[in-house]
Formats: sequence, C-alpha cells, structure tokens
Amino acid sequence: MEKILNEINSDKQDIELNCDVALDFEIDKKYQRTTPINIPDLSESTIVRHFTVLSRKNFALSNTFYPLGSCTMKYNPVVNEKIAKFNSFINIHPLQEEETIQGNLEVMSELEKTLCEVSGMDAFTLQPAAGAHGEYTGLLIISNYFKAKGEKRTKIIVPDSAHGTNPASAALAGFEIISLKSETDGTLSAKKLSEILTKDVAAIMMTVPNTLGIFEKQISEISDVMHKNGSLMYYDGANLNAVMGMVRPADIGFDVMHINLHKTFSTPHGGGGPGSGPVGVKAFLKDFLPSPRIIKQSDKFKIDFGNEKYSIGQMKAFFGNFPVILKACAYVKALGGKGLKQASEYAVLNANYLLNLLKDKIKVATGKTCMHEFVLSSKGYLGNGVKTLDVAKRLLDYGYYAPTIYFPLIVEEAMMIEPTETESKQLLDEFADVLIKIIDESNKTPEVVKAAPVNTPVTRLNEVQAARKPQLRW
Ligand SMILES: *Cc1c(COP(=O)(O)O)cnc(C)c1O
Repeated sequence: MEKILNEINSDKQDIELNCDVALDFEIDKKYQRTTPINIPDLSESTIVRHFTVLSRKNFALSNTFYPLGSCTMKYNPVVNEKIAKFNSFINIHPLQEEETIQGNLEVMSELEKTLCEVSGMDAFTLQPAAGAHGEYTGLLIISNYFKAKGEKRTKIIVPDSAHGTNPASAALAGFEIISLKSETDGTLSAKKLSEILTKDVAAIMMTVPNTLGIFEKQISEISDVMHKNGSLMYYDGANLNAVMGMVRPADIGFDVMHINLHKTFSTPHGGGGPGSGPVGVKAFLKDFLPSPRIIKQSDKFKIDFGNEKYSIGQMKAFFGNFPVILKACAYVKALGGKGLKQASEYAVLNANYLLNLLKDKIKVATGKTCMHEFVLSSKGYLGNGVKTLDVAKRLLDYGYYAPTIYFPLIVEEAMMIEPTETESKQLLDEFADVLIKIIDESNKTPEVVKAAPVNTPVTRLNEVQAARKPQLRW
C-alpha cells in the first residue's frame, strides 16, 4: 500500500513540476452545473469490463499474426510506447519558447538526420501526417520546383501496379496522370517508359520494391531516361522494410521520397492512431520543403522560417505527429545501423521462407523469390466457386488476420502476404499449413469456406453497410 501511495504521489509531483496551473482551485458557484449530467450511471467495474470485452473482440498484433501485405504489421516494441509517454516529452506545448523545448527539437533533428542516412537524401521534413500526405507534400515540392524554373510540366507517370494513393495525390496536387503498364513479370520497362515520355512530364512515382514485392531491375535505366528528359524521380517509400541498410533510394536515382514511420518504424499502420510520412529530398530541392525548418545554431536548436521564399508552406500544424516521431527515433537508436539492416534481411528471409512453403500449392503472381512481401493468385486453385475473399474470411476462423486481398489490381484474385521480420519460423510453418488446409477445404467442403467466419464475434458482414451505417451503441 505504501508503495502504491508513493507512486501516486510521485505522479502528482510530476504533474505539479510541469504544470503552472494550480491543481486545487475552487470553481465559482455560478459556473457549476445545477442539473445532473445526462450520461449512463454505471460503475467503474461495468465500464472496465465492457471495454475489455470489446478489446478482446478485436484482431490485434498483440494477440495474432497480421500478414496484411503492404502494411508492414510487424511487432513493435512496447518500450517505445512507454518512451512516447514520458512526461518530459508530453507535458509541453508547441508554442512554448524554443529554449524550453530544446529536447523535443533535438529528437526531431536527430530523426531527420537518421532518415537522411538511411535514404541518402540531403534533407527531411517530419510534418506530413501519413503516407498519402507525404506524397502530396512531395508532389507540391516538385510542382513548385518546376514553377521556379519556369518549366511547364503538368504530368506525372504512375505505374499500373501503384498504390491507389499515388494517382490520387498527384491529381490533388494538380497533375494529370499517365498510367504505365507493367511487364508480364511485374516490373517496369525503361523502353516502354521512354515511348510515353514527353517534355511536360514532371516525374514518375515508383514503389521499390514494387507492390508485387519485387525489385525493379531496370531502375538505373529508368532513372537515366527520366533525368535526360529533365523529369524527376519520386520514391514511394511507405514500406522500407526490405530496403533499410541495403540500398539507399537517393543512390539509385530518386530525388524526392516519403517514408511511412507507421509501417517500418515502430508504429503500426492502421493502428487507429496518428501516422507520420516524412518527406526527403536531394539538396537542389531543399528550399522547397515545408516551413518552418528545425536548424541548429551555435549549439541551440531553432525553429526557422528562413526558407519561406520557395517553401510550399506549412503542411501541418506545428511539427508533425510528435509521439510517432519519438517512437521512430527510439526504434532506430535501439537497433542502430546494423540492426536496421538485419531487420530488412529477416523481413526478406521470412517472406521467401513462407513463399517457398506455399509456391507449389497456389499460383505465385511473379517469380520464385520476393523481397519483403509476395502476391499469390488463387484463380484456378480454389474449388467450387470459392473466392479469395472466402479464404481470407476462413483464415479469421483459424485465428489469423487476413492478408491484403484484391490488390495489386493487376493480379486476379490477389492475396498479398507480408510476414515481416518479427515472426518466428514456427508461426510461419503453422500459417502455411492453415492456408494449405483452407485450399483443401475449398475442394472438399466448400460450403464451410463460403460461410466463414464462424468463430469470430460477428460472422460475415455486409461491409458496405458496416461502413455506411456503423452500429456504435451497445
Ligand atoms: C501504405 C502505403 C501508402 C499510403 O500510406 P498512408 O499512410 O496509408 O496514407 C502509399 N504507398 C504504399 C506503397 C503503401 O503501402
């Protein structure tokens, strides 16, 4: 008991230390409510039970495997969440004088430097709040760059395998989109690219490894073709899990890129919380980055608005989603250069191991090996009209989250699997067994697969209705 009281007191002390508002003040009678508030009168235990039961109905990384391709649902160390809640970081306001927030500014400056090292870029901004927001930021930078040069470039090339956010961001930034068709092996051809390239193309947006989980073999040729045309190279680095410590986007020809901290760097994607999509550029684009910048002047960190002449402006209130930035910083500091490289190696190893367990049972969309993820096509492998959607639902019955399905759009009945580096051989073996079993079930007892899931708190939903008319009351 004494220990608990001490802890409570020390928490209170923390609050008092960081807070200049008196904690025990009286609210004037005239401001106090006279009628009871209209909320359910429930005991604490009822409420705790309600939310605990709800949380158990959820699929979560902390209780199951989550092979959602392109989302890098790796296990993220809990200690990083703890660091993100340190009082010294969170009991602070972004409008405080910069001398009083030197630590926070240093964390952001350190992460910018680290991301430069990982990517080879010369400068980063941490402002964007998501991958798509990062793309939009990068495209505005490209747009302003050409405007400053007096060049009229109105088009962006986007491969047909790209993430849907790519063409959407380009359109939002005012560009016209030209689609580039992938070859049958899933990669891009420099020759095909040069055939559609015109002088008004501002950039190409590429994902490497692409959304099929394979490396673009012609990347150097593509970079040459684009740069000879005066156009730029945009790298969609939402998933850096196969790339960290292995190859730097800037070294293979890219000029602008974004990274999703909420995929590779210790915040789960789709975690329901904030994300962060830092944008990096080569030196010649640095002036166009969002304002303000964090700079270091004689040992002090400063918030600098000095780049406003060319800057695309402010992309988000204050400095971005700071807790996500903090977790990413803790993650890279804990792993170090070697650890980041090892994470990439294991991510690629795990994906290839799983691919090998499955490749004789179901069609692999492209090639015999992959990078951090791979795409299967179940067309022709499932019996009795069973679809990929049914397989995904059946996986829930066996306690696994489903892979990404029906993406990329260029693969029929696609199933995109990303095991990540944090899963064990034992788990991958078990998962492969279950997937093979479901393929078998589709032939022997198709009605079971089509009726799935049956072991989950709710069975098959009308997903459109569920999104349009959610039932949020109990
Ligand atoms: C996730 C992802 C994005 C978009 O990121 P959001 O944070 O969801 O906006 C863009 N491109 C690729 C390849 C992705 O996997």
